[in-house]
Amino acid sequence: MAEETRKVLIIGSGPAGYTAGIYSSRANLHPLIYEGGQPGGQLTQTTEIENFPGYPDGVQGPEMMQHLRDQAERFGAEVRSRMIVSVDFDKRPFVCIDDRGDVVKADTVIICTGASAKYLGLADEQKYQGLGVSACATCDGFFYRKKKVAVVGGGDTACEEALYLSTLASKVYMIVRKDYLRASDVMKKRVQERQNIEVLFNCNTRGLYGEDGVEGAKIVRFMGTDREEEFDLPIDGFFLAIGHRPNTEVFKGKIDLDAEGYIKVKSPTTATSVDGVFAAGDCADPIYRQAVSAAGTGCRAALDAEKYLMEHDEF
Ligand code: NDP
Repeated sequence: MAEETRKVLIIGSGPAGYTAGIYSSRANLHPLIYEGGQPGGQLTQTTEIENFPGYPDGVQGPEMMQHLRDQAERFGAEVRSRMIVSVDFDKRPFVCIDDRGDVVKADTVIICTGASAKYLGLADEQKYQGLGVSACATCDGFFYRKKKVAVVGGGDTACEEALYLSTLASKVYMIVRKDYLRASDVMKKRVQERQNIEVLFNCNTRGLYGEDGVEGAKIVRFMGTDREEEFDLPIDGFFLAIGHRPNTEVFKGKIDLDAEGYIKVKSPTTATSVDGVFAAGDCADPIYRQAVSAAGTGCRAALDAEKYLMEHDEF
């Protein structure tokens, strides 16, 4: 069992984690980045990213994450393809244990563990990932101009995604499992007023079909009742909007989380309820969830950690 002590430990490797790595390595703090179970984060699941400033011709998600990683490493950040599985924030330095049982003691910790979109759990969602299945309309909607798409979910996110997609696609179906939209009244009204959005109530998705990509969804209406019927819905894109789950399990009971599990930060800083522990990116952001905003908070977390270390020069 190895043991080491670091000034800055960054847990997570999306745009927030790598940006925190760039800033803290340039500040000579020799950060250690634990990449976690999905190195590079959610963006490695998308194809082309066209809304990250600085890429006028777009960039592939995995390529952009490699650029960010290279940039962090260039200034001395050490990247480790492993997970932190437990933390003790009562001790100083903080004690974090990885999936091999190695111990990292750290004067500051920056949590950038991101969030994961919820999926229905269909095998077809995996099969057509990047081939018509997406959980981010802002990222991928542009590829469905004048095409037909479906959005799964009846909450505010689903309405927002459907409204956004309706400005691009020729037709947007919302697949809603209940007989009402859970979304706020204002969102419901906007959806109802939008000509090219059709809400399919009481509907669940059984699967997807298509040769080289999504060509349609198999929908069941009134599932489990004597009125149950199945029909094919021809679509080119299938968007999940049934919520996100912050990846914060490991921090439960260690720092303050909100009711949904998002890390509470003392805005406008990235400070958490534990002095010396900071949070950036989607794990602390239920609202914006964009690569560029995650990178922005990663920068702020690194600057907050640096300031904290300067103010506590016993480290
Ligand atoms: P919600 O939990 O509010 O809604 C999730 C939706 O997905 C519900 O309609 C739910 O159905 C449906 N769903 C969940 N699991 C499944 C499943 N397995 N199969 C089919 N449908 C499923 O999540 P949101 O992401 O929409 O919103 C999260 C929070 O963020 C909310 O508080 C929301 O108000 C807020 N928000 C606010 C926005 C705004 O104000 N502009 C924008 C976006 C989010 P069911 O109703 O049957 O449970």
